Amino acid sequence: MRVLVVEDDPQVARVVRLALEREGFEVTVEESGGNGVAQALTGGYAVMILDLGLPDLDGIDVCRAVRAVSDTRILMLTARDAVEDRVTGLDAGADDYLIKPFAPQELVARVRALSRRPGNLAHADQPVTLGGWQVSPLRREVRVDGQVVELTRREFDLLWYLVQNPGVTLTRDMILDRVWGWSYGGGSNVVDVYIGYLRQKLPMGGKYPQIATVRGVGYSLKLPSDGEGC
Ligand code: CA
Repeated sequence: MRVLVVEDDPQVARVVRLALEREGFEVTVEESGGNGVAQALTGGYAVMILDLGLPDLDGIDVCRAVRAVSDTRILMLTARDAVEDRVTGLDAGADDYLIKPFAPQELVARVRALSRRPGNLAHADQPVTLGGWQVSPLRREVRVDGQVVELTRREFDLLWYLVQNPGVTLTRDMILDRVWGWSYGGGSNVVDVYIGYLRQKLPMGGKYPQIATVRGVGYSLKLPSDGEGC
């Protein structure tokens, strides 16, 4: 059984890794939220242990991003007394939480319980709801507040790639490779043009996700901040 640990404190990560490996779990550690999301979305993790205090992304946003597209169980690690964090985290789709500092045996027990908890499983071919957008990979269709918005095949492929990687910066080269099948950037601005099409066709910001420009690098899908769709 595979467990993903997203924790920037190497000492905590080490303790968690040892405790879980001793019990036969296969453990992967990521030290940043961005890498954590990317790793979680590769699939195959029964449980994700998520520190809420991360250097790059807010742990709550990581939680939301993973919950939107994955059925991995999420166990949050929070600082003592951060009651608000725990409530927000559970609202954002976390399954359980543990307060630091914790006993390794307690952590192992929680992970074991979560890994046994039966599904309500979202599958990769089911529609993904992100705020006011609903994106259905099987129908290759996007709905905005229930209304279908017509996208071309390429626009949909681009949107789906973004939706599968919320909060992750996708470079132009990554997008060209994945959506256009080109293995080099070649100075093409086709990605920018298509991002422009999506921005024209889909409402963004507020209760909708938003395609943010990461200047000089690429694009990143920001999830709506009101927690809808989690
Ligand atoms: Ca931390």
